[in-house]
Amino acid sequence: MKKNNKIDNKVIRRQYIKLLVSNMIAFVLVYVILGLSLVAIVNRFFYSDLENELFICKNENEHTISKIQGEYRVNVDNARIKVVLFDADGQRLAYSKDLLNYIIPDYGFNSNLAPEVILTYLDNSDLCKLLDLSNDVKHEKVKLENTVYNFVSLTFEISSKTAPDVKYCKLMIMNNGEISIQNNIIKIFLIISAALIVLGMIASIILSKRTIKPIAVNMEKQTQFVSDASHELRTPLSIVQSKLENILTKTDSTVFDVSEDIAISLKEVSRLNKLTNDLLALTRADNGASVVNFGNYNILETLNDTITIFKEMANIEGKKFEFQIEDFNFSFDKEKIIQLMIILLDNALKYTKEKDLISVLIIKEGIDCIIKVSDTGIGISSEAKKRIFERFYREDKARSRATGGNGLGLAIGKSIVHLHNGKIMVNDNKPKGTIFEIVIPIKNKIIKK
Ligand code: ADP
Repeated sequence: MKKNNKIDNKVIRRQYIKLLVSNMIAFVLVYVILGLSLVAIVNRFFYSDLENELFICKNENEHTISKIQGEYRVNVDNARIKVVLFDADGQRLAYSKDLLNYIIPDYGFNSNLAPEVILTYLDNSDLCKLLDLSNDVKHEKVKLENTVYNFVSLTFEISSKTAPDVKYCKLMIMNNGEISIQNNIIKIFLIISAALIVLGMIASIILSKRTIKPIAVNMEKQTQFVSDASHELRTPLSIVQSKLENILTKTDSTVFDVSEDIAISLKEVSRLNKLTNDLLALTRADNGASVVNFGNYNILETLNDTITIFKEMANIEGKKFEFQIEDFNFSFDKEKIIQLMIILLDNALKYTKEKDLISVLIIKEGIDCIIKVSDTGIGISSEAKKRIFERFYREDKARSRATGGNGLGLAIGKSIVHLHNGKIMVNDNKPKGTIFEIVIPIKNKIIKK
């Protein structure tokens, strides 16, 4: 069978692409959800404190604002909070002295800007205007000289006996620092995410390939199996068809005249019968549907008759046959072990000549039962040794077919050994021939395949 590591089957390729896309979507989704959660957490972390501070300050000042000698006094513990006061018409009455330091940090030290210019800045910006009375925290941006200043602000109504002209108060905190930290965190996260997404994509390519590979190999095997099986079925069917057509043309002939055609047809039908039974057995083994009847049996009693029959057949063909079976019990499927022995001995007979020796050895070795079937026959080439357990593989097709083989015997043998949790190996016999060695654990933990 062709060994194929590439994904070149159309159906499998489509499946692979689907898997790849869904893996990638999954990776990207995880990062997007992670990113959104991070942004929400960062926002909450940076803004909730600022908002709380504004509300605390509001509660402290709603009724306590005062005016002493023309100067307004506001109770502000937090140096970051700046205040602007308005009258009932929304006209600005006063603002924190250092409000401008927010906007023009040099102010008061080496500012080149005249106070009128600064006032113009304030007048032109929304910062010191009475725009929002929703009693809710607002996010504002002011752009002065190419720099954007961000504020969280809270405007509310005020009523104070000591400062009756003040009607509204606006509290604000500049949060450029927080925003820049927040932006940096998000930037770092985006860079890490981009790297992780690329890694995720590479991982999804590798994962998808890994997932699809055994499916592709199985599908390839299945296709090969069906095509080999159809090929094997075609030969006997066409022989039967041609023989029957031949019989039909000989309308005047007696049964005796066409007996050869009938005999050949019958032989092919029995070959078909064996082939379909073998195919069924292998398909069942593949699907884990093999019926396995384990029991504690004696190996000598189980195999003695079968081996004796093969010994007689070998002797008739002028071949030597010897066997040695130890007398012990263990857990196995009687029918299947007999079938395995028939496959191996049938092959040994098929691939040996007159005067060759076939020997069977069954012993208990430690915790294993060892079954060895050796012959001094034609042997198997190293290349073929790697493939003889494959379905339909035959080193010499013509010879195998002539002896009734279909190339499924050893594949079935291997599946029987696997059902017993064992191993099957093939080696060269010295000086010539083949040795099949099977190791089956006696304390078998039976695997139900
Ligand atoms: P087949 O029905 O052709 O015998 P198997 O699956 O039983 O199919 O065997 C596969 C191939 O392995 C055979 O075609 C043959 O080439 C090789 N083979 C199996 N047993 C022997 C053996 N004892 N000696 C030499 N070749 C063997």
